[in-house]
Amino acid sequence: MIKRSFFALSKPRLTYDLLEPDPDGPRAIPLPDLVTLLLTEAIDNTRPALIKKGDPMKKGQKLALYEDSTAYVVSPVAGTIKSIDTYPDDFGEIATSITIAHDPEKTSEIEPLELPEDISSAAVHLKKLPGAPPFDILADENFTIRTIVITGADTDLLTTTSQYVSTAHARDLEQGAAILKRLTGTARVCLALPEGINGHNRFNSLQVLKTSPVYPDTLPAMIMKDHLDTVLPAGKTPEDMGICFIRAEAVVSLARTYEKKALVFEKHLTLVDKAGFRHRIKAVIGTPLRHIFNQLDIQINDQDRVIIGGPMQGSATFTTHHPVTPETDTVVVQDREILPKISDTPCINCGKCIQICPASIPVNMLVRFLEVDQFEEAAEKGDLEACIECGLCGFVCTSQIALGQYIRLGKHELHKLRAEV
Ligand code: SF4
Ligand code: SF4
Repeated sequence: MIKRSFFALSKPRLTYDLLEPDPDGPRAIPLPDLVTLLLTEAIDNTRPALIKKGDPMKKGQKLALYEDSTAYVVSPVAGTIKSIDTYPDDFGEIATSITIAHDPEKTSEIEPLELPEDISSAAVHLKKLPGAPPFDILADENFTIRTIVITGADTDLLTTTSQYVSTAHARDLEQGAAILKRLTGTARVCLALPEGINGHNRFNSLQVLKTSPVYPDTLPAMIMKDHLDTVLPAGKTPEDMGICFIRAEAVVSLARTYEKKALVFEKHLTLVDKAGFRHRIKAVIGTPLRHIFNQLDIQINDQDRVIIGGPMQGSATFTTHHPVTPETDTVVVQDREILPKISDTPCINCGKCIQICPASIPVNMLVRFLEVDQFEEAAEKGDLEACIECGLCGFVCTSQIALGQYIRLGKHELHKLRAEV
């Protein structure tokens, strides 16, 4: 089995977008009439459900499908459940969407929050905060986390969400980091921030790791190698190596929740429109993208592409009803006129993908296995698990093969296969 880590790094030439020296604050998107929350559990009609259409909702109320469900969402508004439906996720797996009709007349809110004093109760109450704190990982006794890295450096191109949140809310970030240390007992909490932006001197209590402007140097595996002297072996996760990454916004949200003794729901995001103009906005979790497009006068035509995430790692959504989630940092809209044509040209073995891959993966061989659903062979002979999902191979592919999508789906199917054994 090939188990190569990426010590032979090539230097791709794409660079991250850096935050402006004096950035404007975000535009606040008004609350929509309907919010939609995505739950990572499928409906099972044979079991008695805890929630149903017509149920009244309080702001801050936790919603789960069944008594023993660990997946939950939190209502950001007071109102009534309008519908509960199945919803296919990125890989076609069935999840559930819960739509709540917001009633502006209702102001009912749950009692002031009892603030978690340990990481297990944080996982039970706070993992749906904006920024999606990885409390499940931090609470998992199978991992011994020695270092937490707060990602103030955005991991994809075109976006500046994390840079903005970390530097504009530096005080909250430091307070949130102190709470995180208290909850987890982790001695080392540091902040990854791009070199070349203003704001490094705003942090007194956090070690700042200055990341390079070259893509993909802010991806977790690269930060581990360049700043933490730790090579991520193929098939392992950062937490396997004692390192946990958390978005800056999750840390800021944690500080605000403790300060207000109430959950917070506003998510910052960068929206790049068809002309390439960057909008900094904040919207309540659950806001459908089409509501944001309407507010910004962005017309979505048939066959335009809406990408959740950045251009290198994001995935296209099939519906503008897709809501803002705790993880949504970036949305990119591409005009149908400038989309690369779908190609069915086979691989011509030009080798460009191999030259640019920072993990030295034989991508041309890997994709042959993935095209025919040979996932174990893709892992053993194509080094699938060493991929850091930077998307560079798909970006340079002469035949315009959707390599990144093949790889993400391949990893997902491989995990499923192994879980079944
Ligand atoms: S996405 Fe492509 S270029 Fe990036 S690490 Fe994976 S195989 Fe290599
Ligand atoms: S860049 Fe595309 S066409 Fe060239 S070898 Fe890689 S997969 Fe094949």
